[in-house]
Amino acid sequence: MIVIDNVSLNLSVDEALKVGQLGRIADKIDNMDKRLEECKRLIKPTALYTYTKVEQVLKDGLLIEDNRVLKSTKLAEQLSCSTEIAPYIITIGPDLEKRVTSIATDKILDSWILDNLGTYALRTLGKHIEGRIRNEKGWKISRFNPGSTPTWNLEEQEKIFGIFSKEVVQEKIGVRLTDTLMMIPKKSVSGVMGQAISDYHNCIECQLTCEYRQMPYKG
Ligand code: SF4
Repeated sequence: MIVIDNVSLNLSVDEALKVGQLGRIADKIDNMDKRLEECKRLIKPTALYTYTKVEQVLKDGLLIEDNRVLKSTKLAEQLSCSTEIAPYIITIGPDLEKRVTSIATDKILDSWILDNLGTYALRTLGKHIEGRIRNEKGWKISRFNPGSTPTWNLEEQEKIFGIFSKEVVQEKIGVRLTDTLMMIPKKSVSGVMGQAISDYHNCIECQLTCEYRQMPYKG
């Protein structure tokens, strides 16, 4: 297991404005530099990941080490040629969320902007970890997330946490999975990275109208 504490992220106003709806109202947002500085002060980007062998590709999932089965026909299809995958959990910590909530009533726009900057930071952290794994393994990486990847149910988050153990995840990076399958802090992501048979992205199969879409829907 690899734990990366306090990742130094290269965050920029230009990139931030590409996230969600921020760019569309850029002319109405003042002090973006200061807002991004506040975001940087409030986040604690942290991640853990590991490599686990794919023992067998099943019809409806992947059998991985320790007799665990990740149940999803999408994983079975896209990772059918993989001998190894990288389960991961990332977070930017709880402080930005607390600030977003504390100003949500009196400063709605400020709260919304900060929340979007948090999403941008979390996305950048995901790319950072992707880059590390790419360097370590030479994979062309696709990401899969329970609850976002079709046929991979949110309940399967338990299995991602189980690979590391819930206690270890909480101790090492401060992320907790509730009984209702919500990660605390909310600005956290769990899933697996691997080399898929196509350049896969969850968004291409997601029909939701979503301001955070990263790829067009392909159906
Ligand atoms: S479109 Fe939005 S909800 Fe759907 S997978 Fe992409 S980011 Fe997630």
